[in-house]
Amino acid sequence: MPIPGSGLAKGLAVTLRTMTKRSHTAQYPDVQPELPPRSRGVIGLFEENCTVCMLCARECPDWCIYIDSHKETVPASTPGGRERSRNVLDRFAIDFSLCMYCGICIEVCPFDALFWSPEFEYAETDIHELTHERDKLREWMWTVPAPPALDPRAEEPKEIAAARKAVEKAEAAAAAAAAAAAAEAAAQTAETEPPTTPTPESDA
Ligand code: SF4
Ligand code: SF4
Repeated sequence: MPIPGSGLAKGLAVTLRTMTKRSHTAQYPDVQPELPPRSRGVIGLFEENCTVCMLCARECPDWCIYIDSHKETVPASTPGGRERSRNVLDRFAIDFSLCMYCGICIEVCPFDALFWSPEFEYAETDIHELTHERDKLREWMWTVPAPPALDPRAEEPKEIAAARKAVEKAEAAAAAAAAAAAAEAAAQTAETEPPTTPTPESDA
């Protein structure tokens, strides 16, 4: 059976313990909070990487990504080649009043066009103004922190290995072409030089 007044004593003990602890009150907005660099504040768009594949809009569980685009024909780069068509982005907007910050759009983007930014000060007094367009999303892109350095013992990423091999191959081909050109030039010089006339001293 509980002793009468023990509940009160326990409550007072908790109050006394809490009173002696240091306060963790954040003095925002006078003092900016120190957020972890990978905080999910808002989504930034790097539109140069966006191919308008629509994957993010299709996978978003809230259907809060709005994308408009049109097709443009790119003329053939070589004579007799085929024209190509490409998508041109007209509109990219995210309704942050619906977004639940799940990060699926960022995960599924195959072209690294979407990133988390720790920026969080974009509250609005009107809910309709929480739909942010591509210019704003692009501005937030510049607040995205740089990725952490790679582990020096990690395997070289496939893309970097492929790019390095392509550069090495191109350099080797250029060196071989330069050596062949030098050899050809030397052979031509030898052919065009007049034969040396023997001198009397040399005959003797
Ligand atoms: S974070 Fe989630 S809810 Fe928000 S836009 Fe991306 S996929 Fe949609
Ligand atoms: S998934 Fe990436 S590339 Fe595709 S539309 Fe979305 S942002 Fe653009």
